[in-house]
Amino acid sequence: MKSSGSANGRSAGEAVFDWVDRHARHRRDNGLRRVVEPRGSAEDVLDLASNDYLGFARHPAVVEAAAAAAHRWGTGSTGSRLVTGTTELHTTLEDELAGLYGAEAALVFSSGYTANLALVTTLTGADSTIVSDGGNHASLIDGCRLSRARVRVVPHADPGAVRNALEGSSPPHVVLSESVFSVDGDTAPLDELLAACREHGAALLVDDAHGLGVLGDGAGAFTAFGLGGAPDVLATATLSKALGAQGGAVLGPRRVVDHVAQAARTFVFDTGLAPPAAAAALAGVRLLREDPRRARRVQEVAHGLHAALTERGVPAGSPGAAVLGIPAGSPDTAVTWARSCLERGVRVGCFRPPSVPDGESRLRLTARADLEERDIQRVVRVLTAGG
Ligand code: PMP
Repeated sequence: MKSSGSANGRSAGEAVFDWVDRHARHRRDNGLRRVVEPRGSAEDVLDLASNDYLGFARHPAVVEAAAAAAHRWGTGSTGSRLVTGTTELHTTLEDELAGLYGAEAALVFSSGYTANLALVTTLTGADSTIVSDGGNHASLIDGCRLSRARVRVVPHADPGAVRNALEGSSPPHVVLSESVFSVDGDTAPLDELLAACREHGAALLVDDAHGLGVLGDGAGAFTAFGLGGAPDVLATATLSKALGAQGGAVLGPRRVVDHVAQAARTFVFDTGLAPPAAAAALAGVRLLREDPRRARRVQEVAHGLHAALTERGVPAGSPGAAVLGIPAGSPDTAVTWARSCLERGVRVGCFRPPSVPDGESRLRLTARADLEERDIQRVVRVLTAGG
């Protein structure tokens, strides 16, 4: 057998992935290296980084529902939704989610990401135009890319720009926006976007990942903006944030949701949502309906945090829902600031490019229903503590 060594003494294949080292160096040199660190299960830190706004991920009713589902249905769904991956938990969850939104139908996916890919790719194609907010989440951007549609990215939260883009395009066209933007926490002008859509015969597609559980007394953007039952509006939700579970959903008119179920590759070819996650989400939906005070409390906490930070001269975006974004300049500044908060016992999110545009790194704080006034004061003290 021939030797597999090469002229420079490296063994066969060793050079193939040398290029990843260049990427690693670039990330390191620009403060963009991402570190995956396990968190403790019972940390003694005040957590303002998670999306568990209502504390449902550890709520006894949610945990018990997930455990019971694992015992009854197993830990995995065992197949695609169209083969063995649908249980009565999935269909009940779809019915109750649709009920919560006031939508005709809902379809549950294994994640919010796959729900967004499904929504965008099944409702647009090579003959369509997508008018997409410049601040939209990566999953919506990827949906646009996969759709092969013409994509017009418009300035963030600018209904005038959306209107102009629609004027310059022809049906089929859709407008794509989050309800609550994931890093800065501002709420989209959905009323104005819908008006613009209706003037031009466009559909409105809303990613309600950060609205569900918070807006509309917890029922999400459809309730907050009176969109339930609209024939030309669809939403996606994630089950992985306020509901404390995992998974996603598409919600809207039945005939359109049926079309998504038939056409979406991320529905047809993906393993169905695991039963414990479906059960946890269902328990979360029921808790939301039972007690809207939790959702209201999240907004109160967000307003309290925003007011206290503003008073100390820290700009903290908009307190429309649970998320507050604090400008932090360069990636290095953001990382150092977030690290010093953690050393002082407060965990905050740290968002750097490409999650945010260049030069706009952010600390991201999330309000939680269980935070008290003294927690808010502590967060403000920690965030404003020098070096
Ligand atoms: N949309 C938005 C706005 C999000 O913030 C996220 C989660 N980061 C998703 C979609 C994806 O949802 P999931 O995590 O359930 O896949």
